[in-house]
Amino acid sequence: MDLLMIVLFFMIGTIFGSFYHVIGYRLPKGESLIKPAHSYCPNCKKQLKWYELIPVFSYLIQKGKCRNCKQNISIFYPVIEIITGSLFAVSYYSFGISYELGIALTLVSLFSIVIVSDLTYLMIPDEVTFFCAILILIFQFLNLGIKGGIFQLGSGILTFSVMYLIMLFGNFLFKKESLGGADVKLMLISGFVLHPILGLFVIFLASSIALPISLVLYLTNKEHIIPFGPFIVASILFFFLLKIDLNSFLNLLKFLMLH
Ligand SMILES: [Zn+2]
Repeated sequence: MDLLMIVLFFMIGTIFGSFYHVIGYRLPKGESLIKPAHSYCPNCKKQLKWYELIPVFSYLIQKGKCRNCKQNISIFYPVIEIITGSLFAVSYYSFGISYELGIALTLVSLFSIVIVSDLTYLMIPDEVTFFCAILILIFQFLNLGIKGGIFQLGSGILTFSVMYLIMLFGNFLFKKESLGGADVKLMLISGFVLHPILGLFVIFLASSIALPISLVLYLTNKEHIIPFGPFIVASILFFFLLKIDLNSFLNLLKFLMLH
């Protein structure tokens, strides 16, 4: 595997990451993504120069402060850039140049945008979810052919429908919203990417990661609303990047039950 290409994918990923931060931050507020075309300091609105926009480096050189008003810049910016860059590199390492790489990069992009928008506003823009869903489906058809593509399409409809029914049942049972509608829409993507059984298992994996974290947050600062979207996408990514298919998953389950 070409190390130079992995580094290149990391660098491209950090640039995309800073763009995804803009999408996740502006889109839920109804702000335009292209106007203003330039990036600006959220505090003093001063337009940023090109050398203030280099992913990660600018943040480090400016010691995390705006050059104009000295306001602290959110650590979120470099964190999202590094996450996106690292996952771009891992995606290339896993798949090389292929249709599967297209699926992986779309999932990583969704992950970064969902982290920003769900953590900032507790919502995920529908446009982003559906755009990524369609893109992934196209890659699946190109990769698997008509038959395989139709299987993944059906898989997505199945995982979405099951989660939708569970949501309706939960709302009826608890007389309030138990599961976010945006999270249910993410399950469409789960089924498009994975075998429907794995696609549904994503919800259990996401819950078992999110539950201890929300418990700790609840005990430490009484904060008990944590966004669930990032955990769902992280779980889909986990299965896809590690190439865990239904067979290896069932073998793993058997192994765990016997030990
Ligand atoms: Zn400023």
